[in-house]
Amino acid sequence: MKVFSLICACCGAAVEVEESANLYKCSYCGAQQVVEHSGDVISLKKIETLLDDVKVGANRAASGLALQRLLNDIAIIEKSRDQELAQLKAADDQNNVSVKPTPS
Ligand SMILES: [Zn+2]
Repeated sequence: MKVFSLICACCGAAVEVEESANLYKCSYCGAQQVVEHSGDVISLKKIETLLDDVKVGANRAASGLALQRLLNDIAIIEKSRDQELAQLKAADDQNNVSVKPTPS
């Protein structure tokens, strides 16, 4: 796992962020931030800043990227939900089988 040394957008502390992370919580000030990937450049951005960008439409490209990332996050969340549902269903099936009366 590649780790990048970045600067917290809120308190300016030097922090380390994993390459695959989309969100980062500063271990110094606790601020939630978005990990912005732009080509090879990775930077931290305050969530409020992104929301402001979206609100005023000042940065359509950034909004598009943020939207795309949110859609990706949704897909990831849905996938893990489906996996957990499948596991629960499998466990359910197992329980149903084990409580079924055995034919005599
Ligand atoms: Zn911070």
